[in-house]
Order: sequence, then structure tokens, then C-alpha cells
Amino acid sequence: MERIHKIVAQLLKGEFPEKEGLKELLSFPTHPAWEVLKQAARHVRKRYYGTDVYIRGLIEFTNICKNDCYYCGIRKSNQKAERYRLTLKQVLSCCKTGYRLGFRTFVLQGGEDGYFTDEKLCLYVAQIRKRYPDCAITLSVGERSRESYQKLFDAGANRYLLRHETANSGHYAKLHPSELTLKHRMQCLSDLKQIGFQTGCGFMVGSPFQTLDNLIEDLEFLVQFQPEMVGIGPFIPHCDTPFADEPAGTLEMMVNLLSIIRLLLPKVLLPATTALGTIDPNGRELGILAGANVVMPNLSPIAVRKKYLLYNNKISTGAEAAESLADLKQRMERIGYQVVTSRGDYPKE
Ligand code: SAM
Repeated sequence: MERIHKIVAQLLKGEFPEKEGLKELLSFPTHPAWEVLKQAARHVRKRYYGTDVYIRGLIEFTNICKNDCYYCGIRKSNQKAERYRLTLKQVLSCCKTGYRLGFRTFVLQGGEDGYFTDEKLCLYVAQIRKRYPDCAITLSVGERSRESYQKLFDAGANRYLLRHETANSGHYAKLHPSELTLKHRMQCLSDLKQIGFQTGCGFMVGSPFQTLDNLIEDLEFLVQFQPEMVGIGPFIPHCDTPFADEPAGTLEMMVNLLSIIRLLLPKVLLPATTALGTIDPNGRELGILAGANVVMPNLSPIAVRKKYLLYNNKISTGAEAAESLADLKQRMERIGYQVVTSRGDYPKE
């Protein structure tokens, strides 16, 4: 227990803690030390962001994917997934609704859909950029070439989310087929950062075969890479994937990791993700109270929301839905925070 106190002291100073002690702390997810860390994480987040909560309008614009990640409900081998792709007109209409509601960031997320050549995807980006010069455009469309990322940046995209999924190559190989490698994923992340995107990496908490050592490697990678955004969410099984019978990640572990990440990367843009809201009805609030500062309501057309099913029981209504922003605002106000209409960029200073 002496060791745990030392770890807490190191984290409170923003230092990367001694690994064995961190492992011990992570193995007691309900240890009272977590309460101390959570409070400290809230304090650090207030230093840069006050009590503001940034909102991002999530547009899930294609669920067609050439990859076969073992955990993902839209993997190419899932024949039961009902596939769709939004037209430019549909995407622009989502942006129009979102802008009216107060969104100043649009996140275009999708599977790795071969239809979206550089030319087609740049057209989507450029058309949004033209209509909404005051908004940030975030892309989350997987692994592409450096040239492709450069074209997307030049077309007007500002941010890119590409979770590294796990920083351990052995673990990576247990979650993905052999054509997908950690080395390539990491190359993409480094290309994105060099090009000038505000770059986001991240991982699932409680993914199959994940060990505490793996989580520590993930945290070490975050500190080394210094991303502007970090997306973490619990793994949740999907019934039509090879991991259908694996247990989901836990709320405690999720919330504890959010606090550690906030302490290690004080300025990071850190969402309380949809998956967190899915495993617990108060997941988003608990995430914000642990140091998160972003929520990403769903702006996709209601007709396709159920089709972007990465995992079972994914929420897409209530506070999760862009059209219920009033509900989300109330929830945030109830815990002492407020949703703001702003691009919510990574602070320069
Ligand atoms: N294709 C893009 C990519 O690879 O980054 C973006 C879409 S991908 C579906 C977005 C994220 O969903 C992945 O990075 C993964 O961490 C998460 N995800 C997929 N299946 C999941 C599951 N069963 N439970 C929780 N998160 C999942």
C-alpha cells in the first residue's frame, strides 16, 4: 500500500509512475486512491478548460469496411451488417442541422470504404469547409497513405482520429488479421502528426487478451506521442464477431484510466465516448467527472444509426443524439459543467 501512495504522488505531479506500482494500483480499481486521482484530474482539466464541455457532431458516413478486425461489428466478414454509405448531400444536410444546433466541429467517421478515393473524400471535406469556414473538420477513416492524408489536410480537414488500439504488437495481432499491423498504424499516426493534423490516438479498455502491462504500454505510448486527442472506450462485444462471448470492459477501469490520462496529458481533448454511455446510463457524466472534456453526440441520419453497430446495444438516442442536445446540456449542468458552442481546439499555450 506504501507503493500505491508513491504512485499517487507521482501522478499528482504529472510524472509517469513507477510501473510495478502502477500495475498494483490498476489491479485495485475501487481503491480509495482513485478518488484522490479523480479529484486531481478534475482540477487539472479546469486549469485549461474551466467547466466547458466541447461537443462534436458525429457523422457516421459509411459502414462499409475492407478490414476484418475481430472485435468490430462492421468488419467485412459480418454478412448480417446492413451496409450503407451517405451521399454528399446527406452529409451536408447533417452539417446544416448540426450547425443550427450549435456544433462547430463535424467528425466524419467510417469504415475503410474503397469508394472513398482521395478525390471523393476530398470533395466531401472541401464542400463542408466551403460552407462552414468557422468549423473544425475531424476525420476518422482509418489507415491511408501519407499523400492521401496530405490531400485531405489541404482540402480543409483539421483533425484526425486513429486509435492505435494497443501499443503492444503481440496484442495487436490477437485483435486483427495479419494484414493489419501495429507498425503501419503507428506510421499513419506519425504521418498525421507531421502533416499538422491535431491527432488523436487511443484504445479500447478491456479488449480481449489485454493485460495490465498492455495498458501501461498504452499509457507510455500516449506520453511519448503527445497526441492532441485521446479516444478511449470500453470494449463491448458484438454478437456477430469472433469476440461475441468476450466480456465487456468495466466502468471503473474506464473512469480510472480517463483520470490517469488527464493527469499525464493535462491539455488533451478527451471525450467521454458513446461506448462509455452504453455500458452505464450515467457513463458520460462519470467520464466528465473523471477529467474528460468532450462529448460526441450522433448527427447521422436517424435511419442509418442502428446500422453503424460496432458493438451490441450501442446507444443512439437520448443524450447521445444531437437532436436531444437540450437533454445533454441539462445533464452536464446538473454536474456543474456547461456545453459550449465553440470549435474547441487544442490549446496552443
Ligand atoms: N475505420 C476507422 C478506424 O479504423 O479508425 C474508424 C472506424 S472504427 C469502427 C472506430 C473505433 O471503434 C475503433 O478504433 C475501435 O476502437 C472502436 N470499436 C470497434 N469495435 C468496437 C467494440 N466492439 N467495442 C468498442 N469499441 C469498438
